[in-house]
Amino acid sequence: MNIFEQRLAAQLAEREAANLYRRRLSLDTAQGPVIQVNGRQLVNFCSNDYLGLAAHPQLKESLRNAVTRYGVGSGASHLVCGHSAAHHELEEALAEFSGRPRALLFASGFAANTGTLSTLLQPGDTVLQDRLNHASLLDGALHSGARLQRFAHNDLQVLERKLDAVRGPAMVVVDGVFSMDGDVAPLAALAQLAQAKQAYLMVDDAHGFGVLGQRGIGSTEAAGLGAQDVPVLMATLGKALGTVGAFVAGSDTLIESLLQGARNYVYSTAMPPALAAAGLTALHLLQSEAWRRSHVLSLAARFRRGAEQLDLPLLDAAGPIQPLIVGSADRALALSRELQQRGLLVSAIRPPTVPPNTSRLRITFSAAHSEAQVDTLLQALADCWQRHA
Ligand SMILES: *Cc1c(COP(=O)(O)O)cnc(C)c1O
Repeated sequence: MNIFEQRLAAQLAEREAANLYRRRLSLDTAQGPVIQVNGRQLVNFCSNDYLGLAAHPQLKESLRNAVTRYGVGSGASHLVCGHSAAHHELEEALAEFSGRPRALLFASGFAANTGTLSTLLQPGDTVLQDRLNHASLLDGALHSGARLQRFAHNDLQVLERKLDAVRGPAMVVVDGVFSMDGDVAPLAALAQLAQAKQAYLMVDDAHGFGVLGQRGIGSTEAAGLGAQDVPVLMATLGKALGTVGAFVAGSDTLIESLLQGARNYVYSTAMPPALAAAGLTALHLLQSEAWRRSHVLSLAARFRRGAEQLDLPLLDAAGPIQPLIVGSADRALALSRELQQRGLLVSAIRPPTVPPNTSRLRITFSAAHSEAQVDTLLQALADCWQRHA
């Protein structure tokens, strides 16, 4: 073996020994509250399909119709000849829905974040990020050459001190809803602080968009904030919207600059037009079927009431992400395995996705779950939890 593969093999062995090895499931069925894996049915509590749209009949129909019209591949990047009327219509609808002048589609949230931060920031700037921000936000900042400072999770006092020490342009970037903790950033106070210190604010609302706020616009709407307060809004379409891709919404100057200059926009093939058409249908469903967000939120509340009675270690999470901190990776894995034997799929999230000794069961709910399924999960946790304590 050459030096590279020797090194990789050693790292893999280390991972395996520490119970940090990850294995993929192969699903035989569509995403939904019940999925089939290796011929076995499992109630699914680990998807980000919060509104239960990923296999919705209307999405499937709009995808099929759009494939008939547009074919499958987009053929090129947006700037060459890959931009279709379906992409354009979705961008306009997302801009209007989010209350911003313009929106730009990216093939993934990872690309949207790295592309946006590496276009906006340059050496000499400072970017301040919550310690629990998504990996793509950190990567984008590192790639930009700006000075990256991380602040303690949701700690505005630390952030304020750091902002006071900054020389030159400053940008603050947070997740609206934190993906592994399920809690919400203190957005109203953050926006006020950013304004007072003349820092530019970006919110990644991958887990809030479609779920939170009166109209489902997300965590910024729930905090009463508009485009003035949060000039850079990013959200993904692969979670609550049940499709794939992401968008950034903001001013004409911002969006045009990303379109002209974000390297992973300019040099990357556009998402298939049919998926943009399905995304537009998902956006319409999110607007017309408000019951989906109220149902998923009420399931999460039901779970919290039950978990409190069982004395389970809930976090301060308001939405469909309800993690239970277990501690060691071994224990989290053992719990997840036992739940799976009982027909319940709950993922064990371990380092490096979360800090050491905070391995957890990351439980997520969908509008497609029933109350009975939530109760079954609570019953199983009541049976297993103590044995692995
Ligand atoms: C999932 C996620 C992303 C990445 O989005 P993809 O479309 O899956 O690439 C970015 N930010 C956050 C907070 C996420 O949870």
